[in-house]
Amino acid sequence: MAQGSDLEIARAARLRPIAEIAATAGIPADALEPYGNYKAKVALEAILGRPATGKLVLVTGINPTPAGEGKTTTTVGLTDALRRIGVRAMAALREPSLGPCFGVKGGATGGGYAQVVPMEDINLHFTGDFHAITSANNLLAALIDNHVHWGNALGLDPRRITWRRALDMNDRALRQIVQGLGGAANGHPREDGFDITVASEVMAVFCLANDLADLQARLGRMVVGSRRDGSFVTAADLKADGAMAVLLRDALAPNLVQTLEGTPVFIHGGPFANIAHGCNSVIATHAALSLADVVVTEAGFGCDLGAEKFLDIKCRQSGLAPAAGVIVATVRALKMHGGLAKAELGREDVAAVRRGAANLVRHIENLSGFGVPVLVALNRFGTDTEAEIDAVKGAAAAAGAEAHLCTHWSDGGAGAEALARAVMARLAAGTASFRPLYPDAMPLAEKIRMIATRIYRAGEVVIAPAAARKLEGYEQAGFGHLPICVAKTQYSFSADPGLLGAPTGHTFPVRDVRLSAGAGFIVALAGEVMTMPGLPKVPAAEGICLDPAGRIEGLF
Ligand code: ADP
Ligand code: MG
Repeated sequence: MAQGSDLEIARAARLRPIAEIAATAGIPADALEPYGNYKAKVALEAILGRPATGKLVLVTGINPTPAGEGKTTTTVGLTDALRRIGVRAMAALREPSLGPCFGVKGGATGGGYAQVVPMEDINLHFTGDFHAITSANNLLAALIDNHVHWGNALGLDPRRITWRRALDMNDRALRQIVQGLGGAANGHPREDGFDITVASEVMAVFCLANDLADLQARLGRMVVGSRRDGSFVTAADLKADGAMAVLLRDALAPNLVQTLEGTPVFIHGGPFANIAHGCNSVIATHAALSLADVVVTEAGFGCDLGAEKFLDIKCRQSGLAPAAGVIVATVRALKMHGGLAKAELGREDVAAVRRGAANLVRHIENLSGFGVPVLVALNRFGTDTEAEIDAVKGAAAAAGAEAHLCTHWSDGGAGAEALARAVMARLAAGTASFRPLYPDAMPLAEKIRMIATRIYRAGEVVIAPAAARKLEGYEQAGFGHLPICVAKTQYSFSADPGLLGAPTGHTFPVRDVRLSAGAGFIVALAGEVMTMPGLPKVPAAEGICLDPAGRIEGLF
């Protein structure tokens, strides 16, 4: 199954003018704000307030392994397949972060013959949304230090400033810095640090806002630090919210692009899936649902983190409700959950697939528990054998979910038509009855326990005493109704990245909690969470260059 690299395939594609793609999506020409020939923003006035009449399909996955799963690839393949069988379908995806493209991760526009294009643009500067978000974040940072410099009328304790600066670059040297050096003219020296732009609360706010007014209200609610008495100082206290909204206004309009097969796709907003909720903007999802009959969207990481947050944060806040869920699994990844090392994945091992399928089965149970009908997309790799594929299908069927073999990575949308038909059958049956995991009114510590025991199947939840006190403080300050955003490893149901498969009875430790008052969630940190990644010893940047014709090489 020899085929070119993702970039080679993307570059060989003949793209259609973006106005043609917009026309197929029913977007009027005067609502389009083109950025070149193949990207456009769609004016907010043209899409806000339209009824969201389409049906939403969530693509999620088993716990990721180094073997690769292909959620984005499957989101694209399924949407192309839906259009092939005559459904008016669109996809809504996250915007990739530029920084990680130069590290190890590669791009995030799908793969093989199931990709969104123009791949290089989307993965790099795209339409400048991340620039706007970075600027808004750093405007607030500048206003904070400026406020302290000019007398600190709000009484902000400089040692308790929690707002950090942001940059869309993997740069570990900026994780912790000392700023304001060089004397009184340069402000007050203090410790600070940078997060990568996608980890900024501004990104989460941007992705959860319903419209411009809600955007500004959320920006205003963001807590930047506290006074000596512990009371919070917000961005609105600093009168920063208006100017931040100005910087974000144009970015808030969703970006329209196309798949290799000409399917319209919104790519808009890209929050981290650990300290934030990990899915594209509410505005893009709503817009797609107002234009298409079926919208396929992806949640980051595995079903335990990504889908849980999609449902308990994004859907809870926005009123969205998925009509079906698709869990992406691969034989290779299930073998790793069954105990094999990456080097052993090339040979047939049905017993390892059966063992590892416990991970898939648990995600099927969990997603079904939200009242979402579940299907499994078995994303085929060249080394999979018939016996291994049958083992996955058998395990999924026993758990009540049909698994469909998909070959969209090598065949494009044609390779996911069986899955697309199964999705349409599920939507026609209309059995979805989405309900969040816990009610708003439940105490914060109970919400954390609920997620840890019901979704992760932990035996015990240990909340550090200081974290428990912070939770009580949040409740007293009027934030007790907020949902929880767990930051833990993506590799395991537990907080231990080495515990693969379907562990039970583990201890779930909550080390710290953080308030994201603008985004509207409380982050519960279980383990170390990287908010500013570093680059590896041999970064991908070393292999990225321009060829003599000025085309990009080495991006993947
Ligand atoms: P996720 O969204 O789950 O992180 P992606 O869809 O971005 O995963 O895919 C990750 C990588 O795996 C991409 O480079 C893609 O080309 C590759 N990939 C996906 N599916 C297959 C497949 N069936 N065979 C080979 N490579 C694949
Ligand atoms: Mg992805």
